[in-house]
Amino acid sequence: MTIALYPASFDPIHFGHLDIIQRATNIFDEVTVAVYDRPSKNLLFSVEERLALVRAAVGDLPRVRIAAYTGLTVDYARRVGAGVIVRGLRVVSDFELEWRMALTNHQLAPEIEVVCLMARREYSFLSSSIVREVGLLNGDVSSMVPEPVARALAAKAAQRAAEARSPAPA
Ligand code: ADP
Repeated sequence: MTIALYPASFDPIHFGHLDIIQRATNIFDEVTVAVYDRPSKNLLFSVEERLALVRAAVGDLPRVRIAAYTGLTVDYARRVGAGVIVRGLRVVSDFELEWRMALTNHQLAPEIEVVCLMARREYSFLSSSIVREVGLLNGDVSSMVPEPVARALAAKAAQRAAEARSPAPA
């Protein structure tokens, strides 16, 4: 039985990620979607929010587990018994980063394979940063993210607008 780990920040999850998750379930026996609780990154959503949005987006897709993790991805992969780390490759610019990460992870854990799935053409432009930018400016994100994510983005946009109207006292 091969367990695959799909690790990412998911800030927030979008249709490109969902496509990779779905396709990974066609290849591997079980897929663990792992939300990286990254301390150093400037994130829009908290880890609890990102986890809840991943749960809502993935729904009851069979053989998929969802969890949050901190620390090294290979350590977490070992902990959940994953023999494979799945990543998505969009355009050429993804390649260098994924290549460096795969080499590093292979150095740290030679028994774990990194498998990259090519992004589908219709999602190859899609990234969490594009989704955040459009969503926070109240643009239509319905072709990019599932409904619960669109609602969460609209709530963040409203919260930011309210904060801008009445800034916290210094
Ligand atoms: P992180 O910054 O934590 O790596 P990302 O959301 O940027 O999180 O990416 C996580 C993984 O999902 C990466 O392997 C990335 O290439 C892949 N990915 C991101 N967007 C897409 C997409 N539109 N189609 C396919 N794979 C994607």
